[in-house]
Amino acid sequence: MRSERHSVLINAHGIVQGVGFRPFVFNSAKKFDISGYVRNTGFGVEILAAGKKENINKFIQTLKKSRFDASYEVSPPLRESAKAAGYGSDGSFRILPSVKTGILSDFPHDLALCDDCKKELFSKRGRRYKYPFINCVKCGPRFSIIKKLPYDRKNTVMKKFKMCAACESEYSNPGDRRFHAQPNACPECGPQLYFYDNDKKPVSAKNNAFDDCVKALKKGKIAAVKSIGGYHLACDALNIKAVETLRKRKQRPFKPFAVMAELQTASKFCNINAYEKKALLSDAAPIVILRKKETPEYKNLLEAASPGNNSLGVMLPYAPLHHILIKEIPALVMTSGNLSDEPICIDESEAFKNLKGIADCFLTHNREIANRCDDSIIKFLSESDKKIILRRSRGFVPDPIDAVLQDGIFAAGGDLKNNFCIARNNKAYMSQYIGDLSERPNMVFYNEAVNKTVSFLDVKPEKAVCDAHPGYYSSNYAKSRFKKAGFAYHHYAHTASVITEHKLKGSVLGFSFDGSGYGEDGKIWGGEIVLYKNAAFERIGRLDYFKLPGGDICAREIWRTALSLLYQYGLTGHMPESLKKFDYKPVLKMLEKNINSPQTSSMGRLFDAAAALAGVKHISTFEAEGAVALESSIKSKSKKSYPFKINNGVIEIKSIIENIAADLKDKVSKNDISVKFHNTVCEIIVKSAILCGRKYNVRQVALSGGVFQNMFLLENSVKKLKSKGFKVYFNEKVPVNDGGISLGQAFIASASSGKLK
Ligand code: ZN
Ligand code: ZN
Ligand code: FE
Repeated sequence: MRSERHSVLINAHGIVQGVGFRPFVFNSAKKFDISGYVRNTGFGVEILAAGKKENINKFIQTLKKSRFDASYEVSPPLRESAKAAGYGSDGSFRILPSVKTGILSDFPHDLALCDDCKKELFSKRGRRYKYPFINCVKCGPRFSIIKKLPYDRKNTVMKKFKMCAACESEYSNPGDRRFHAQPNACPECGPQLYFYDNDKKPVSAKNNAFDDCVKALKKGKIAAVKSIGGYHLACDALNIKAVETLRKRKQRPFKPFAVMAELQTASKFCNINAYEKKALLSDAAPIVILRKKETPEYKNLLEAASPGNNSLGVMLPYAPLHHILIKEIPALVMTSGNLSDEPICIDESEAFKNLKGIADCFLTHNREIANRCDDSIIKFLSESDKKIILRRSRGFVPDPIDAVLQDGIFAAGGDLKNNFCIARNNKAYMSQYIGDLSERPNMVFYNEAVNKTVSFLDVKPEKAVCDAHPGYYSSNYAKSRFKKAGFAYHHYAHTASVITEHKLKGSVLGFSFDGSGYGEDGKIWGGEIVLYKNAAFERIGRLDYFKLPGGDICAREIWRTALSLLYQYGLTGHMPESLKKFDYKPVLKMLEKNINSPQTSSMGRLFDAAAALAGVKHISTFEAEGAVALESSIKSKSKKSYPFKINNGVIEIKSIIENIAADLKDKVSKNDISVKFHNTVCEIIVKSAILCGRKYNVRQVALSGGVFQNMFLLENSVKKLKSKGFKVYFNEKVPVNDGGISLGQAFIASASSGKLK
């Protein structure tokens, strides 16, 4: 019996451009004797497949089972066969030029060097031996080199490099693993490395740039190294003097630096479980925060890179350049090449200007970076595949997040740890990490990134939403750029981000715990219990208000908050000696006279105060340093806690402070105070959930806000809430800190269907 010939149109959506999808389709079509075509469109990838019915089915199954993160829409059998339409009339299957028909397509994030390319990179006989720009369809730069869509070489920064004959033949051979690899390059035709000294003088003869940089690093010098999404500042992690010099020059006395090393090396100084290993080895290649090991050999490295902290951020080499560097220097400190709180440098002029006082030399190249993108940072819950994201950027952006949102919403984000988000086709496109919008260069970066994202997505946002803070740059940007801009309260947006990510239905009880956010009463919120019910948010509980003498300065001088709480509860007589070292008398005066002492319900500030009272930290040189130090001071666990009361939703902290003061008098250890304090905050969450859960008939709990970057708190809260029968959710796809609120804002704008405040 003659089998019937069919043709169908298949539309693939997802991450299907720039990942070797079309060659895969091409080869699969050959295998099943299918004629037709494949091409990139503005929507994704379109495939016309003609052949025997059972072959088409097998072909579709093959696509579905492939490694690609895609969904498929298959048309009913077409009336016109592929042959009649003029395709595959010779029985061929072709890759057609891209067409831009649609509104948007999903293009990939930057991909870490793949195993095949790594092998080739170190193969002495290959034509790409130690060539730092090697790549293929499975790996290489993507987001960072794209100027416009669709993702074709001419629309990337590779346009200026004309492929040599050898590269061209790989590029056009469907059997080659570089078939349609847009950044394809070799030493003959592709980008080159350059090495400069601190006076911008090129110091290397041709081809010596790499070796000269290695020599400098081995001597303990600091090099600015152009990577994928921007510059890194690099030094030998085992050279403690070099690391200390970097700290001094970057004015970063305590903030942890990330370390780059091969997995084998990293496992000598950090504990790495199966989930962490998988994430480190993933094509996103993020920084993973790992627990330090007790090891005399690496004790100094661990302390220099991440002082006083029980964890360390580690990433594996991801660019080919990193791989060849790591072969020479097995552990490198690799920190963002920027002035503190400014955007990471992406071109030579920025790097020479901004990093001149920090770097001794520059290892750079002539492949432009089109989209600035910092390293991403993630952290796993212990022995679990669940993780939180601290920074979502290179390797994750521009992957969209599935979310039921109204089309065409622009969510401006907040001013700290900023990113923004645009909703399109039930997807949220979160921008790369922009940073602190109080810094002028970040504002410029924000403007650029918004314009680029709007153009990538080919979308005209019709509605904008921003934080309620009237002084935020992002709020004013949204209001001036878009006619219809509404606002969403910070802590509602935190809870909303969890609801959106997990597509929660029904009522949700949210714990939005962070440093600060503008509240409905104009006060500084930060320890909020939020109810989401019938498409509306309401604050149903909070931490008791306390004063911040001096306002914002309390985020740095955290001893002030400790003093404020002692004062509030009449305990200044119990002031620990460590607090008396500071000039506290004028601060007491401020409190007495109520001068410049705004009120807050911030859980972040309460953690600061506890850290200062316990004597763990008094000055914070980076965000949440007090809380990090307090968590790190936990050496052994116990079930002990401090008593507290909840009155009409208000969590009274008086007895907590009284009991800490009593513990200090009794010379209770830092460890014990820290454990008791952490346990108390867990109990606050559980007890509030039980009370509010009963009162408002809600069983779903959302945890969000920067305070939940504290793993002790997050893990124990989740465990205890679950044991009480709650369904517990937290941010896993967007940052748990303020880098997640743009998603929540988009949700609030969607839910309000036009009636935005
Ligand atoms: Zn590759
Ligand atoms: Zn070439
Ligand atoms: Fe926040």
